[in-house]
Amino acid sequence: MAIYTLPELPYDYAALEPVINPQIIELHHDKHHAAYVKGANDTLEQLEEARDKEQWGSINGLEKNLAFHLSGHILHSIYWNNMNSPKDGGGGEPLAADGVGDLADAITESFGSFAKFKAQLTKASATTQGSGWGVLAYEPISGRLIVEQVYDHQGNVGQGSVPILVFDAWEHAFYLQYKNQKVDFIEAMWQVVNWQDVNKRYQAAKASVPLISF
Ligand code: MN
Repeated sequence: MAIYTLPELPYDYAALEPVINPQIIELHHDKHHAAYVKGANDTLEQLEEARDKEQWGSINGLEKNLAFHLSGHILHSIYWNNMNSPKDGGGGEPLAADGVGDLADAITESFGSFAKFKAQLTKASATTQGSGWGVLAYEPISGRLIVEQVYDHQGNVGQGSVPILVFDAWEHAFYLQYKNQKVDFIEAMWQVVNWQDVNKRYQAAKASVPLISF
């Protein structure tokens, strides 16, 4: 029985043009994201089998696969919702006038200014080595926002941090359109950020009870 399922895209394949072309969105969602969902489900089945048979020879690989596929599923599920069409208000900066003043204030408090935050997330995303992500996350101990440079889908992450805005910097996210110009893709991404969605995630993260205390 499948535990995880592939979510529907919140828009059609062409909705993010010209920033991301429809062919990339279709392959990225229908093939790549789907593979992470299947991978997470398959790995859970294999772990169940290992428990039943008490055969632990593959435990290291299975635990790594679980972290990889599950994190891939989670990050892509956030990614699709973090974007919307420039025609429908995607892009720009979070502004109090748009009802996202809390997020704007948190960005300023945590990074000094929106421009400094934008520069850090752009740089962190564009300079990923191999495959990875640039992530804006809520860090529950400090109550501040941080930028993380994630390796693959799961490495280099501060435990307990909650991703609220994610830039996919894997080659599959841009290569068909941007070729080797990863920095151009990341800079264009700012034109489709859905700040309403980011703010919704920020509010939910802030409201959740921190499970970490000293
Ligand atoms: Mn991806």
